[in-house]
Amino acid sequence: MTNEDITDCLSSFATLLELHNENEFKIRSYHAAVFKLEKVTDEIAKLPKEQIQKLQGIGKSIAEKILEIIEKNTFQELEDILAKTPSGLLKILKIKGLGAKRVRTLWQEANITSPEELFKACETDKIAQIKGFGEKIQETIKNGLLFIKLNSDKLLYADVLPYAHELEQYLKASPLCQKMSWVGEYRRSLEIINTLEVVVQTSQIQLLHEYLQACPFLETYKEKCGIYTWRGVFKESTLKIEVNIANAQKFYNTVFLLSANPKHLAYKKNNQTLLQVSQSKVFDNEEDIYKQFDLPYLQPELREGLWEFEYAQTPVLIETKDLKGTLHAHSTYSDGKHSLEEMAKAAKAFGFEYLGITDHSKSAYYAGGLDEKRVADQHLEIEKLNQQNPDFKIFKGIESDILSNGDLDYSNDVLKSFDFIVASIHANLQMDEARATARIIKAIENPYTTIVGHPTGRLLLRREGYPLNIPKMIDACAANGVAIEINAHPLRLDLDWRWVHKALEKGVKIAINADAHDKEGYLYHQFGVLVARKAGLTKEMCLNALRKDEIKQVFKKDIR
Ligand SMILES: [Zn+2]
Ligand SMILES: [Zn+2]
Repeated sequence: MTNEDITDCLSSFATLLELHNENEFKIRSYHAAVFKLEKVTDEIAKLPKEQIQKLQGIGKSIAEKILEIIEKNTFQELEDILAKTPSGLLKILKIKGLGAKRVRTLWQEANITSPEELFKACETDKIAQIKGFGEKIQETIKNGLLFIKLNSDKLLYADVLPYAHELEQYLKASPLCQKMSWVGEYRRSLEIINTLEVVVQTSQIQLLHEYLQACPFLETYKEKCGIYTWRGVFKESTLKIEVNIANAQKFYNTVFLLSANPKHLAYKKNNQTLLQVSQSKVFDNEEDIYKQFDLPYLQPELREGLWEFEYAQTPVLIETKDLKGTLHAHSTYSDGKHSLEEMAKAAKAFGFEYLGITDHSKSAYYAGGLDEKRVADQHLEIEKLNQQNPDFKIFKGIESDILSNGDLDYSNDVLKSFDFIVASIHANLQMDEARATARIIKAIENPYTTIVGHPTGRLLLRREGYPLNIPKMIDACAANGVAIEINAHPLRLDLDWRWVHKALEKGVKIAINADAHDKEGYLYHQFGVLVARKAGLTKEMCLNALRKDEIKQVFKKDIR
């Protein structure tokens, strides 16, 4: 049981209280408890009972609930309120930007209890007429519903990872599986996965089918299985699986065929497609297929049928070990979970030479953004820590909000006290494309800006990015020597790798940043690296692949 499991339970409860119009004070106390618990660094489930009862800011009654959750994964009062809530409303509550109060209105005034009813009501313009809703909110709801429907059975790459490990272990545990290779979207490191696909070599097809059917964590889709294909789903998830079965002779041909995007296979040279060549004879590795077609070997993640055939030789793509530091991370100065010193130590343990700390700026008051005084305090602490640890460097950074007019969040006097600045948009996302583009370009042209953080604000499977003319933004970065971030949080992976490739063509440097809000957050760098590889990023074009002393020079060259 993780701390997040516990806070999820409590915050669902708070939302349901709001939906049922319960006591305001009670609702607030649950929200406040969640906020406090998110800052707890110990594993709550492992704390002794007395310590949980004494957690700061958690009342006696909520502490009891926490103990109940640890024991039963839920608590009685939550189950009771769930029992009197129509299940369709739980789905409606997931629509971004709607909130429990509005859902209550929909329920009580329009009698809506399911996403289907809600969609119909939008289509017939009924929602717009409800007091406090209007056309714009109706449109938001409709888009939110479509988005959820479209994405209901897709998963983030990072969420697929543990399932892939589980399946791999199960397959490898059997002598029936002589060899296996991931294929499809997962092998190509796509940010969103529809189906987890694998090729297994066996000489006992029927027995392998039976072995998969007997797997305790898989459910077989019998009607969708064929002789050479087993299809099913993970029981505790919506993740679909496809196991392709090949004999020893066909293994690499099948792996190659199923790994690439069809557009890659359709590539044509001398009147022959790559597909035709790859299936013309038996290959015992993938390198030979490219050789046969007189192409350099192309790594699986590049096989999308986009620009990869321009390579004259196999590119040396970036790897996680090439990253020498990180340039976007938070500490307890703003909304991070661990102190500056802890974050620095963890970065060092992660193998980094430096940490560019970038807490939130003052406009992000909801995230504990730093006013000028706190900035000065943090700088003093950084200097002290740097003195104590000469072999590791903390750079003074800030994640400065880009204000609605494109300005950064401090006066020039304060801005110049930083080593570097990540400029990000967090508020006022509802601008039209022209205004949003002008806003971000103004920030890029600001001489103090070093990196544009999570440029489009998208949250994968949850929220589209705000409208933005990305080519214009890239041009502005190229003209002003500003780097673009691949925010490596698995929900963001923003800027999208397809655009990162365009940025690289314009000579724009890329920073791969985990945006870590706790020590464990550094692990997210791996996901940023995966999509960076898809974009064709090499370590030479990656800002934080520079060593400590090299990046110091880059920061100095700016006007600071
Ligand atoms: Zn941010
Ligand atoms: Zn951040």
